Amino acid sequence: MGSWTRMAVLLVAVLATATLSTALINELEPGKDWPTRGSVKQPYNQTEALTVPTEAYTSTTELVEETPPNVKDELEEEITILARAAEAGNVKVDYSGAQLWKVSTEKNGVRVILGRLKRRNLISTWAGNQSYVDVLIKPNAMANVTRVFARENISYDIIIDDLQKRINEENPPLDVNEIELQDRRGHRMTWKQYHRLEDIHGFLDYLAKTYPKIVSVNTIGKSYEGKDLKILRISDGNPNNKAVFIDGGIHAREWISPATVTYFINQIAENFDEESDDMKQIDWYFLPVVNPDGYEYTHLVDRLWRKNRKPSFTGRQCFGTDLNRNFGYRWGGKGASNNPCSEIFRGSRSFSEPESRAVSEFIKTSVANFSAYLTYHSYGQYLLYPWGYDNAVPPDHKDLDVVGKSIAEAIERAGGSKYSVGSSSGLLYPASGGSDDWVKAQGVKYTFTIELSDTGRYGFILPTTKIEPVARESLAGLRVLASYVSKL
Ligand SMILES: [Zn+2]
Repeated sequence: MGSWTRMAVLLVAVLATATLSTALINELEPGKDWPTRGSVKQPYNQTEALTVPTEAYTSTTELVEETPPNVKDELEEEITILARAAEAGNVKVDYSGAQLWKVSTEKNGVRVILGRLKRRNLISTWAGNQSYVDVLIKPNAMANVTRVFARENISYDIIIDDLQKRINEENPPLDVNEIELQDRRGHRMTWKQYHRLEDIHGFLDYLAKTYPKIVSVNTIGKSYEGKDLKILRISDGNPNNKAVFIDGGIHAREWISPATVTYFINQIAENFDEESDDMKQIDWYFLPVVNPDGYEYTHLVDRLWRKNRKPSFTGRQCFGTDLNRNFGYRWGGKGASNNPCSEIFRGSRSFSEPESRAVSEFIKTSVANFSAYLTYHSYGQYLLYPWGYDNAVPPDHKDLDVVGKSIAEAIERAGGSKYSVGSSSGLLYPASGGSDDWVKAQGVKYTFTIELSDTGRYGFILPTTKIEPVARESLAGLRVLASYVSKL
């Protein structure tokens, strides 16, 4: 094929993809009693802003063009050499000998040094706050990084001494009894294992079939690779109900998130009659896996993959956009990268990704009276409210703080985990383009990003024995949220 032909084929492919995703969203067929189009919620009254400049509430599509093309941040992460190898050879990424270090950042200059090591592709970062960062050290970089840390007098603790060993132990197969139970139950979902997408979707369909009076399932769009974005709704059909939107799995490697969201679904659907009036008077919308392509990729190729799987068509050829940097409120600001190879790549423009676009279209066009939005991530045990894009808070931040703190108390009472509550930019660091900021800007009152367990002992590689305890205490927190929603 000549280069012009090749380019034409590529162009056709790009256009086909664009047309396909647009068409799917436009053809969105709401199910029986599902919200329909034409009810776009109004953003906040501009005069209500406290610390946020008024342009914060203007259309973000205008901001897109004004964003300088070279936004770089010290938190920017490079794709790992290992992941590149996997893309080339399609073999499973092996993390043998890779270590996780907890690095104190109290000392001046540590973040700068970490940024430098990251750009040289010697380390990648997992999570952290203003006093520490969890850093993944690749085996071939160990000596180098150890030397730099010694020279610069940077203190650290080794948290995981062989990451691959942890990955191997994380998700063991179910025992015989459990498998037998699975066969009898009519779906394969358990909370004793991290399941593949097929099991999760099968479980949603099973519930819709089993409880048709209260449960329905809808597909709100397709992922880049064409996988369904499946939403499950639980509702008693009362038109006066308020609505809550809950999603999980925006970041592929945070397996505890879809596990927790499906646990909520199971508990509420299976025991609906026994739930409190507060819980029953809410229309619950659950999207357990926002990023199905990335999620499957973490099962099949790279356990630590974070982004979606759409290749970049311009600049350096890399895969994936960070969906939680792609939402269209203050898109392209701090804590997001314009480098397609970065772990926090914001995408070519706001809502450039089919997954984030489908979520936003659904929320925007829904007639459901959304009063709360919870997006589940891991890890660190934080209850974060907007804003994420910069160190500022919305006008009703005190309400959010009160609710966040009571949710945190309920979680601790139920299971003992301590959650910190605050604005995401204040408690962690600024990150623009997050789903929570965009949803809050649509006027949804109680908007939280929840970073589930743990605080770094296992990090993303949380053993399956932790699923039920984490999910159970999180449900206690959700019930407290429901009580506040009912008071609105
Ligand atoms: Zn996340």
